[in-house]
Amino acid sequence: MNEMTPLAAPRVRKPDWIRVKAPTSVGFAETKQLMRRLNLATVCEEAACPNIGECWTKKHATVMILGDTCTRACAFCNVKTGMPRAVDPLEPEHVAVAAAELGLEHIVVTSVDRDDLPDGGASQFVKVIQALRRNTPKTTIEILTPDFRNKAQAAVESIVEAGPDVYNHNLETVPRLYPTIRPGARYYASLRLLESVKRHDPSIFTKSGVMLGLGEERLEVHQVMDDMRSADIDFLTMGQYLQPTPRHAKVAEFVTPKAFDAYAGIARAKGFLLVASSPLTRSSYHAGDDFARLRNARAAKLAKDAVRA
Ligand code: SF4
Repeated sequence: MNEMTPLAAPRVRKPDWIRVKAPTSVGFAETKQLMRRLNLATVCEEAACPNIGECWTKKHATVMILGDTCTRACAFCNVKTGMPRAVDPLEPEHVAVAAAELGLEHIVVTSVDRDDLPDGGASQFVKVIQALRRNTPKTTIEILTPDFRNKAQAAVESIVEAGPDVYNHNLETVPRLYPTIRPGARYYASLRLLESVKRHDPSIFTKSGVMLGLGEERLEVHQVMDDMRSADIDFLTMGQYLQPTPRHAKVAEFVTPKAFDAYAGIARAKGFLLVASSPLTRSSYHAGDDFARLRNARAAKLAKDAVRA
């Protein structure tokens, strides 16, 4: 085989467009203290997100429910793997307190994979959504869920009925790379999950994302976009994969900002309502501003369709 797998590729030096400042602001320190006080994990810290300085300075944090330990071991992800602790019954209320104290107009809530739980953790997502609706009714809610292996149908039904504003589930990479990058997951199962969200409630915005730079080919990325559109996904995010530690999959390529723009143009032409594509784009990066754009884009499309009819 000529092609190097991401795990075997040599380490590549980070280009200038990836460098970010070390976090030192007061907002950063206050966000950190709040999360510790409420015993909440964040994907910002656990996934070693490069945007943490910028986001936490603005008091935007993405809460990671169901603990900080994942039952899977994806080759790209920095979250620790092992046997997770029991589910914290206070977590839903604590998430609502965090949303209130941070003054969040839009919150993103994600979780680790909990293949050990009978419902994969779906009922905790429901409780978090209900606690947020009770305590901070003006906050719009975006959830970023795992694939709920073999339990997706029931999980999606219960979560969608709880009424989040945005349902996000990331495909992460192209199907060819799943065996090395996302070995515990199935590309088409993830796609079907997103499709079923829209089938259950067409008013929910659906969102998905891929990391670039893992060894994918351009045409494979275009195919993923087509697959997402066939599942009626509204919002696509694309960002550069960064190797969190030497144990993780190596970066096969640093995709240039120009190439990210080119991907964005193609994605828009394929009909996504919204596309975020840049080296530092992450699922929850600028999620509040993007949610406002998403709503405007849907309203504009509906108005256009009405004129045509
Ligand atoms: S981009 Fe998302 S995960 Fe990263 S620091 Fe910002 S809110 Fe956290």
